[in-house]
Amino acid sequence: MIQVVVIGSGFAGLWAALGAARRLDELGLTERTVAITVLSAEPFHDIRVRNYEADLSACRIPLADVLDPAGVAHITTEVTGIDADCRRVTTASGETHDYDRLVLASGSRVVKPDIPGLREFGFDVDTYDGAMRLQHHLQELADGPATPAAATVVIVGAGLTGIETACELPHRLRALGVTPRVVLVDHNAFVGSDMGASARPVIEQALSDNGVETRTGVSVAAVGRGGLSLSSGEQLAAATVVWCAGMRASSLTEHLPVDRDRLGRVEVDDYLRVIGVPAMFAAGDVAAARMDDEHVSVMSCQHGRPMGRYAGYNVISDLFDQPLLALRIPWYVTVLDLGPAGAVYTEGWDRMVVSRGVEAKATKQTINTRRIYPPLTRSRSDLLAAAAPDLQARP
Ligand SMILES: Cc1cc2nc3c(=O)[nH]c(=O)nc-3n(C[C@H](O)[C@H](O)[C@H](O)COP(=O)(O)OP(=O)(O)OC[C@H]3O[C@@H](n4cnc5c(N)ncnc54)[C@H](O)[C@@H]3O)c2cc1C
Repeated sequence: MIQVVVIGSGFAGLWAALGAARRLDELGLTERTVAITVLSAEPFHDIRVRNYEADLSACRIPLADVLDPAGVAHITTEVTGIDADCRRVTTASGETHDYDRLVLASGSRVVKPDIPGLREFGFDVDTYDGAMRLQHHLQELADGPATPAAATVVIVGAGLTGIETACELPHRLRALGVTPRVVLVDHNAFVGSDMGASARPVIEQALSDNGVETRTGVSVAAVGRGGLSLSSGEQLAAATVVWCAGMRASSLTEHLPVDRDRLGRVEVDDYLRVIGVPAMFAAGDVAAARMDDEHVSVMSCQHGRPMGRYAGYNVISDLFDQPLLALRIPWYVTVLDLGPAGAVYTEGWDRMVVSRGVEAKATKQTINTRRIYPPLTRSRSDLLAAAAPDLQARP
């Protein structure tokens, strides 16, 4: 039996596994010839991009609902090692899984640097568990004595995740009966410095409309249970610090005998094959893929989902000497949620604003609640159809 192993069940891993199952079906083969197995730390497909929202009830999809109908096996386990020479992965429980082809799709994590108190007292919205921990903490504070620190949330990192979290929190806190104070801190000179000059005024206006204070050009010196100190010397009384600064690819990339970029990603070719490692593909946040002649993929579900579908198609095609499909995506958009102030939608790599307010918010809601979801019908044909290596039109 030929073994295809996929590590991870996020946006890249899920679609790689379904894309492989679809290609197998297309070639008239079955799971009796090729076993496709997803190894993932959680038995879920998490809609990670929604972790800044208040209601996460629709953000965890059991893998059984989306992989069983497609004939894809899944094992809940943490992969701890990859031996590319022996084509074998090892797990925390001591099992090994040999593969003929591997798709690495173990994603990324926010990096909490070695700032005193940060790892002990800091929160994040990086994972479902992290976001739920933050929710419970905010509820506990709302149920306790009303102090300035209890009402104050400091968000560190004014990139996309930090801005979305900051814009969402004031009304989330109000819904808990708290009169909120939300402060967004960044060491850069501007909020949303990656978003470009066109979107920045829209973001600044939205932060102001949502009542979010900003501190730019400063970093965090130390975090404690009831507050934090900034490099400027300012002390903020805050029982909640949410760390949203800096992403890094899964440390599994360090097991491969190749160079990594500054985000820890491995380079893949147009077919999602890891350059320099035989029998291995990579997709999503672990991989740096060329999206066009000038741009490399961004850590995003926008790129991770098509990378997964193409990796799945190609991993099976490669096994049976069929032509591979090159992935190129001719468009790039950013749709940033700005809470009650709407959203901002930009097009192009220089991020020119094309819509904002309620219009952009409607697009964001369609993305977050429909566009990025797999079919939940438990139908094999629906799932395989959704895994076709076609590029979606821009939202
Ligand atoms: C709050 C937030 C908002 C975001 N908003 C946007 C947005 O608006 N638009 C956008 O395009 N992107 C957004 N992103 C980024 C997006 O979520 C990621 O780029 C995307 O999730 C990457 O997909 P992935 O499949 O590569 O990794 P992930 O979704 O992180 O999935 C990784 C998978 O690997 C598994 N895994 C990890 N390590 C191991 C291991 N050792 N063993 C076994 N399994 C393992 C995990 O359990 C998981 O199933 C946002 C991220 C956050 C946190």
